[in-house]
Amino acid sequence: MAHRHPLRRGRSAGGRCGRRPGDRRVTPRAPAAASGRLTTPGPGARSSTTTGPVRTCVGCRGTGSRQALLRVVVDPGANVLVVDVARRMPGRGAWLHPDPHCLELAVRRRAFGRALRTAAAPDAGAVARHLETLAEPHAAGTVPAAADRR
Ligand SMILES: [Zn+2]
Repeated sequence: MAHRHPLRRGRSAGGRCGRRPGDRRVTPRAPAAASGRLTTPGPGARSSTTTGPVRTCVGCRGTGSRQALLRVVVDPGANVLVVDVARRMPGRGAWLHPDPHCLELAVRRRAFGRALRTAAAPDAGAVARHLETLAEPHAAGTVPAAADRR
């Protein structure tokens, strides 16, 4: 009896039994590795920061929450940009980080004209002044002023 068993297993059943449990063990690992891939790149980090509607800055094209970005509208009569501090003004609005760099980028690209559908590039002087007043109390420039202004 003892001599026959090893021979039979080795020829017929041994080969099949060895592979099947191996396949079952591999399959649960594969989905775990796939889900690990999905969570590692950027989208996972974004979802954690988005608390509300996300706006795109017309300057740097980066995104931010409504609270983080300034809303800018145009005065159609004068073709002048106006900062919509309360974010309640009617009409089209462009969103901009309260950052002079973003303003400069937006002006260079004429992004305001495109976003607000104006024929000519609107004057951004008021927005620049607004950013200056935001920056002055925080001379160090470490923290965006939006946190203090509610
Ligand atoms: Zn920006």
